[in-house]
Amino acid sequence: MEPDVTKNITVLPGDGIGPEVTAQAVKVLKAVAKAFTMDISLTEKPFGGISIDQYGEPLTDDTLQTCLQSDAVLLGAVGGPKWEDLPHHQKPEAGLLGIRKALGLFANIRPAKVYPAFVNNSTLKPEVLRGTDFVVLRELTGGIYFGQPRGYNAEKGWNTMVYEKYEVERIARKAFEIAGLRNKRVTSVDKANVLDVSQFWRDVVAEVHKEYPNIELNNLYVDNAAMQIVRDPKQFDVILTSNLFGDILSDIAGMITGSLGMLPSASLGEKHALYEPVHGSAPDIAGQGKANPIAAIGSVAMMFNYSFQMTKAAQIIEQAIEATLQAGYRTADIFQPGTKLVGTEEMGDLIVENFEAIFHEEGLGVFTL
Ligand code: NAD
Repeated sequence: MEPDVTKNITVLPGDGIGPEVTAQAVKVLKAVAKAFTMDISLTEKPFGGISIDQYGEPLTDDTLQTCLQSDAVLLGAVGGPKWEDLPHHQKPEAGLLGIRKALGLFANIRPAKVYPAFVNNSTLKPEVLRGTDFVVLRELTGGIYFGQPRGYNAEKGWNTMVYEKYEVERIARKAFEIAGLRNKRVTSVDKANVLDVSQFWRDVVAEVHKEYPNIELNNLYVDNAAMQIVRDPKQFDVILTSNLFGDILSDIAGMITGSLGMLPSASLGEKHALYEPVHGSAPDIAGQGKANPIAAIGSVAMMFNYSFQMTKAAQIIEQAIEATLQAGYRTADIFQPGTKLVGTEEMGDLIVENFEAIFHEEGLGVFTL
């Protein structure tokens, strides 16, 4: 990245535990920027329920314009009982759909990474799980969720799975680019033995692959892929798939590796990107300083990777999370007897401390001012 260019980041803390976990993620963001002498400008805007309270709508034009002008958006979570009875299109969650659409976010990335401190916590055996580190890249704006015609009557129901060539091309490109930042392997998942749209998907992906000769491509049918993720998750690097299959596979992938409070995500478009934890606003624990900030902090690591191509920064954030877990610190959601219970803020502080320690240990400190 060019060191003299300021990166503009919009921060949308949202509702419930959103502001609590986002505050910790911002702390990490600032520590990373300082360490790498990178100029960042953070602008916080209301979004979700808090925006409804102040302005009568979940996503104001001002918030949207700020997001559109930024290099990346960091989102906490939205929603809560206070706004539950509003009509669907006025709810905080309607803001989520609005912002994803306006930013043109057609690719969703959910990582499945197993922290060594957690290999014994999964439903899978430690030896199957150890070393797992892959991402599911899901097409987000096309496929059967949006295809026409759709409908139902008393006698039948129908949906249409349709993909345009440009939709497959752009998500395939993203997959190869992401694999280039990782271990250079893409597995495209489809159902080409049964569905014409999947054969089309497979052909287009193969065509785009010609532009990326240093990346390995293979194809799997979705039923086999689901089985393989549970049987031997280590074999994957980047799983590329459509909206429907990705919806299912990203949940399987997320859950083999840990709890909801640990799962980050990224949504990418041609020009914009949004990073957010997978979890919601957790009204049951909001305001108590108990929330796990690791998903939000992991989302910042993804921002450095995918928006700023700073893979080293992303790596050190992940190492800092791992070191903190390895030292036995846990928030309430991942607490086990024998570990040390900490609150949201303390977890954030510990991760920042570990980030700084690892950064200097690696001899990278010479780059700081
Ligand atoms: P949720 O993810 O908010 O919570 C589910 C359970 O997981 C709760 O018991 C909660 O305490 C726990 N949990 C979630 N995140 C945690 C964290 N970081 N640390 C510790 N524990 C955590 O899901 P829900 O209860 O179904 O939804 C609550 C609200 O959030 C609803 O209004 C829903 O619409 C909204 N929601 C928003 C988003 C988003 O903003 N992207 C996503 C999902 C749900």
